[in-house]
Amino acid sequence: MIPKAADAALVEKLAVANRILYHQGVVDSFGHVSVRHDKSPDHFLLARNMAPALVRREDVLTFDLDGTALDADGRRVYLERFIHGEIYRARPEVQAVVHSHSPSVIPFGATRKPLRPIFHMCGFLGEGAGLFEIRDVAGDTDLLVSSNALGAALAAALGSRSAVLMRGHGSTVVGASLEQVVYRAVYTEVNARLQMQAMTLGDVVYLNRSEAAKASATNETQVPRAWELWQREIGPLE
Ligand code: MN
Repeated sequence: MIPKAADAALVEKLAVANRILYHQGVVDSFGHVSVRHDKSPDHFLLARNMAPALVRREDVLTFDLDGTALDADGRRVYLERFIHGEIYRARPEVQAVVHSHSPSVIPFGATRKPLRPIFHMCGFLGEGAGLFEIRDVAGDTDLLVSSNALGAALAAALGSRSAVLMRGHGSTVVGASLEQVVYRAVYTEVNARLQMQAMTLGDVVYLNRSEAAKASATNETQVPRAWELWQREIGPLE
């Protein structure tokens, strides 16, 4: 079934999210962010295959959960769109997904060292991050999540958590809104950087489960403040 057109404000917000993630150093030429369709939970919005910093409203396409674009009209789509569709399928409450190769997170996947909340801004990591080992699922690959089966395996590794590390590749974070997922993607990178610095100093005291849950609840109310600043920094969309 083809859904009605998505809310224009949501499409614009997705373009803004793409640019913020570039400005904040989460994505570079690669990586992507999606949002669940506001009129159909079985569809999501994602840009065509392009650098996130260049995404305009008209570059946003509609996909079904199998990763098939309804309106590509010959435009190339992301090779790893299956990340998004399979997570939306597995996690009905998730409304937005960021996949990136944000650099400070990569060493954690490569060493299997747990990513844990080192400060209050990252309470959402209280359950830790999942670890996706693509080799266990598909042997030697190009590391990309380029099929529904790989996307489903990634979603399984994510489980009920907010983030999943992808060994030799990057990470994926999920949220209840575009604002929240962008916040989480930015602060996952910050947490990884700080955690690595702290680990070189000695034993690290992380937030415990209870602290993480409380900090996360408080920070939910602070997300709009970050979004307002980050949106201002990127300037108006063309
Ligand atoms: Mn990737």
